[in-house]
Amino acid sequence: MSEMNSPRKADKIVAVKGMNDILPPESAAWEALEVRVRDLMRRFAFENVRTPIVEPTALFVRGLGEVTDIVEKEMYSFEDRLNGEALTLRPENTAGVVRAAVEHSLLYNGPKRLYYMGPMFRHERPQRGRYRQFHQIGAEALGFGGAEVDAEVILMAHLLWRELGLSGVELQINSLGQPTERNQHRAALIQHFEAHQDVLDEEAKRRLHLNPLRLLDSKNPAMQAVIEAAPKLIDFLGEASHAHLETVKSILDAHGVPYTLNPRLVRGMDYYNLTVFEFVTTKLGSQGTVCAGGRYDYLIEQIGGKPAPAVGWAMGVERVLELLKEHGATPEVPSLDAFAVITDVGSLPQVMPVLQMLRQAGVSVQMQASVAEGMPSMKSQFKRADASGARFALVFGPDELLAGQVTIKSLRDANIPQVTHLLSGIGAWAQSLH
Ligand code: ATP
Ligand code: MG
Repeated sequence: MSEMNSPRKADKIVAVKGMNDILPPESAAWEALEVRVRDLMRRFAFENVRTPIVEPTALFVRGLGEVTDIVEKEMYSFEDRLNGEALTLRPENTAGVVRAAVEHSLLYNGPKRLYYMGPMFRHERPQRGRYRQFHQIGAEALGFGGAEVDAEVILMAHLLWRELGLSGVELQINSLGQPTERNQHRAALIQHFEAHQDVLDEEAKRRLHLNPLRLLDSKNPAMQAVIEAAPKLIDFLGEASHAHLETVKSILDAHGVPYTLNPRLVRGMDYYNLTVFEFVTTKLGSQGTVCAGGRYDYLIEQIGGKPAPAVGWAMGVERVLELLKEHGATPEVPSLDAFAVITDVGSLPQVMPVLQMLRQAGVSVQMQASVAEGMPSMKSQFKRADASGARFALVFGPDELLAGQVTIKSLRDANIPQVTHLLSGIGAWAQSLH
């Protein structure tokens, strides 16, 4: 009974841990990055692809590999209550793009360059640069087998760092060779780690015979010495694999793109072969990899397509933006052109068409609309106009409107004189702005 008389304020519902709202003004930096990336992709002839956020769980289990961190412990998987399907929120999007390409025979007429942007989901411990919903921008060159395309996608990312004004992003590359070479290395790895059973943690022991390559990207400090001493894949590469790596390196050299060969670089998914690479920075603490990728020549057939080689990368948007912030290079938020100060709600039918005309002419205008109490006072409207960052106040007062006019006041520059324009002549003023 008393509950009805004194309603309690409802508990707040907050966002899921590790999943962030991206709010203004920060969202403007996201948009600015997206605009730059779209232009970059256009210049490299990559076309946009948008695939579902939810995919069949089997796609990732088969594509990424059963014994990987992502599949074993990071996926948001669930059963569709309505039909029992096993589904997963995508933890990455290479598998999804390949699925779409196969499903729609995108490679029927030859190779295809595709890019995407969007959220990915991994159940990880949230920390700086590591979230449960995060965003990737990715590029996939499907149907290309030549080493020059490996180099081309690396050059594309390299150019983006340059255009964003980011320095100190270090490129590391390695080769994972071909399956037969991997098998020989695998045997050597197992032998090596079996001889050091005592330092292996439980996970490493379990993975030793299932997927020994995964031991190499363990972050367990106690295992680092024995990982460091493990046989290197690069020593098992045949001539063709070496030649492929050399071609990539020579193209990078010819472009003056510095890199380090890191024979320990393995990547977390099983689908890679030959070239793998990461762009790493020391400026973001331990989450230093901003972009990572490589060649995956066997994934397309594994997903049921006609065999075709491919290479690509994905970058972590949060980390790139964080790095931009570290550089003090966050893009400027475009300021509002004008704020309309309107004294009487009754004049809106006369004022709104003028604002519409301005917006049509490319001018950004925020309108003072009525609030619960009606129109705020002139003084408070001017305060808001000032706080909005607008360059000009458009004053639609009773005198102005009676004369079919508007007064335009500069809010930022005292040297610009106040002017009065006929409403019908506002187009000319709009022109003068740009
Ligand atoms: P890490 O070693 O940092 O876990 P990863 O090898 O799992 O990275 P990839 O699967 O290669 O990462 O994804 C490519 C990029 O996406 C990473 O380099 C990183 O910038 C970003 N990324 C991956 N996982 C996350 C996450 N949980 N939160 C934010 N960004 C992420
Ligand atoms: Mg990871």
